[in-house]
Amino acid sequence: MPPGADVPTPGAGELPLPPLVDHHCHGVVRGDLDDAGFEGLLTESDAPAAPGTSFFDTQLGFAVRRWCPPLLGLDAHCPPERYLARRRALGWEEVTRRLLRAAGIGTFLVDTGLPGDLTDPAQLAAAGGGTAREIVRLEALAERVADGTRSASSFLTGVDDGVRGAARTAAGFKSVAAYRHGLDLPAEPPAPARVAAAASRWLADRAPGGRLADPVLLRHLLWSAARTGLPLQLHTGFGDPDLTLHRCDPLLLTDFIRAVRPTGCTLVLLHGYPYHRNAAYLAHAFPHVYADVGLALAHTGARAEAVLAGFLELAPFGKLLFSTDAYGLPELYVVGSRLFREALHGLLSRWVADGAWARADAERVAALIAAGNAHRVYGTGAASGPRTGAGAEPGPRPGPRPR
Ligand SMILES: [Zn+2]
Repeated sequence: MPPGADVPTPGAGELPLPPLVDHHCHGVVRGDLDDAGFEGLLTESDAPAAPGTSFFDTQLGFAVRRWCPPLLGLDAHCPPERYLARRRALGWEEVTRRLLRAAGIGTFLVDTGLPGDLTDPAQLAAAGGGTAREIVRLEALAERVADGTRSASSFLTGVDDGVRGAARTAAGFKSVAAYRHGLDLPAEPPAPARVAAAASRWLADRAPGGRLADPVLLRHLLWSAARTGLPLQLHTGFGDPDLTLHRCDPLLLTDFIRAVRPTGCTLVLLHGYPYHRNAAYLAHAFPHVYADVGLALAHTGARAEAVLAGFLELAPFGKLLFSTDAYGLPELYVVGSRLFREALHGLLSRWVADGAWARADAERVAALIAAGNAHRVYGTGAASGPRTGAGAEPGPRPGPRPR
C-alpha cells in the first residue's frame, strides 16, 4: 500500500522506506477531546501537569507541534490553543483520517486490551488506509473470563480456550506482567496444582472488574501464550506510574528467556527505555528475542536519534522493530513515525557519509527495521515465509546477503 498523498515527501537523499509496520499500537479516542483530555494523553503520567506547567512543554509536546499543525492547515509550532481549536473545528474523524494517512503506516498490529471508547483495528486500518491485525492482551483476556465465573476450573478452562482461540486469528499476544507485578517473576511454568490454588484464591477475593496481579497466574498466562507459537510481546521499561520502573528492567527476564526458548516462542521486548541497551543486549544474545524502538522515540522527541543509536549499538539489525505505541491521539501516530524516520535517516546517512556503512546496506537495514523484520516475525508480509511455530528453533532466517 503506498502511503497517502499527504505523506511528507522524503528530502533529497533520504532513505527510501516501505510502508511501515506499526507492530505495537492502540486505538484512538472516538470523540472530540477537551484541552485537558488532549493534554492528558501527551504523557505517561496519570495526573494533570503540575501547577504552572504543561505537558505541551515536553519533547513529545514539541514534536506534536512540529509535525501535526501543517497536516491541519496550520504553521508548524503554532500555539497549542490554536492547534486544539482547529482540531475541534475539523472534528475527530477528519483529524484522525488526515493524521493517520500522513503516518505512512501500511500495517497496524493493535493491542486491543485497553479500556475506553477507542477505535478498533478495522477502524484504524480504514482511517489509515492500511491493514490491521489484533494483538491480544493476556491479562485482559483472563479478566474477561473471570467476569463470567467464580469457579477455578471453569476459569482455567476458559483461559485455555481463550488463548487457543485467539491464536487462530491474532498476530500475537502481549503481557503487562511488568505493570501487574514486575518482571522479577520465577522463570519456570507454575505447576498445575499451584495454578488451580492461585485461581481459587484470586476468584474468591476478586471484586467485579478486579485486575489480575497474582504472580502465579501471570506466569501461567505467559506460558500459555508461549506454547501457542505466536510472538509474545512483553512490556518492559517506562510506562505510567502504575508500574515500578526498576522492576521493569528487561534483564529481569533473562531466566524466563532461557526457559521459554525450547517452546519456539518469539519474545518481543516493548519500549525498554531507559533500559533499551539492556533490551538490545538480550536481542543480541538470544535468537528468539527482539526489541521495539517505539514509545522511547516518541517521548524523547528531538533526542530520539540518540535513543535509537543506543538500540543500534548492540542489537542485530534483524532484531529491531518499529512501532509508535500510539494510544488515544492520532497525533502520536504522526510523531512516532516521523521521529523514527528522522532518527533512522540521521544516523544511517551519517554512517554512510563516514564510510562506516555502504549506502546499499543502510537502505536494506532501514527497510528491515521499518517493516521487514516485523513482517518476518508476525508473518504479516505477502512475501514472508511461514511463521515460527511451536517446537521450532526460533530466530530469523538469514536475510539477503550484501551484494
Ligand atoms: Zn502500548
